[in-house]
Amino acid sequence: MRLDKMLANSGIGSRKEVKKLLKSGGVTVNGKMVKDAKIHVDPETDDVQLFDEPVEYREFIYLMMNKPDGVVSATEDKRDETVIDLLDDKHKHFEPHPVGRLDKDTEGFLLLTNDGQLSHQLLSPKHHVPKTYFAHIKGQVTEEDIKAFANGVTLDDGYVTKPGELVILSSGEESDIELTITEGKFHQVKRMFLAVGKEVLYLKRLSMGPLKLDESLELGEYRELTEEEVSILK
Ligand code: URA
Repeated sequence: MRLDKMLANSGIGSRKEVKKLLKSGGVTVNGKMVKDAKIHVDPETDDVQLFDEPVEYREFIYLMMNKPDGVVSATEDKRDETVIDLLDDKHKHFEPHPVGRLDKDTEGFLLLTNDGQLSHQLLSPKHHVPKTYFAHIKGQVTEEDIKAFANGVTLDDGYVTKPGELVILSSGEESDIELTITEGKFHQVKRMFLAVGKEVLYLKRLSMGPLKLDESLELGEYRELTEEEVSILK
């Protein structure tokens, strides 16, 4: 692979920044200074160093984002800002994609990766990966709703959902709840509440599988997963 790609895939910086580093003479391949971004290296066998430190190549990137309202979970969009637009060049360069979709107005946990196998595994209906949401609901959420969600509710298109675990945090004219579901149908949480005659006013995803949203991330911020977090996801 090209040296500039290998360096950028090591999280050193964008391709542009990598070019500057090469020009500065900071990069050696097997002990020799290299300034040409286009030469080919084998990350497995060639000894690539930046300012005398070995460069660790990685193929995959795993990011946890606290998605804000108003941004779409897509890689490209003609009208709206996308979650990819929120990434730095050095992360964009890995060409990550969002793992599943959150609605434009939904906030919270969004995983982004270029690891297609992991994203397939997390999204596959066979794996029943649980996702927990916090929601603010117009209307009084009741014990009846808990039972209905536990049995599965019929959505507007006739689909009967798999059991969902509903926890009422507060209940009145408006209610706060947490709901855990193992599916990811289009607008699923909003449609489950519509099925029991209630409206979701605010929705935030709190977790996906074993990973919880890092609450230190402000809306629109993201961070790389730690190695441990990646290993528990797999
Ligand atoms: N369910 C919804 O209705 N919207 C989301 O964004 C996620 C789950």
